[in-house]
Amino acid sequence: MKCPICGGELKKMVEKSNLKGFGVLTEFYRCVSCEEELMTEDQFRKGMDKIIELKAKILVSSVEGDYIKLPKELAKRFKGKSIELIPGEDRIVVISK
Ligand SMILES: [Zn+2]
Repeated sequence: MKCPICGGELKKMVEKSNLKGFGVLTEFYRCVSCEEELMTEDQFRKGMDKIIELKAKILVSSVEGDYIKLPKELAKRFKGKSIELIPGEDRIVVISK
């Protein structure tokens, strides 16, 4: 892969970067000559998956009373589907039906 700006060599990097307000380890390409950074769709998706994991951790602290607020990304995934919550010893399993 070549840099779309200067045609220089792109180097694969793994760094903690800020993605949508979350500091997650993400993989991306950085140009060795002009330092332009870019992400492939696949790299972006992996980063987003990590955010969903982080949000899932936040979810635990936002349990109030008898309902659980789903993070937006999970809500989008389960939109229109019935889900079942199965409480385990140290986890709650969400099953979509
Ligand atoms: Zn470049």
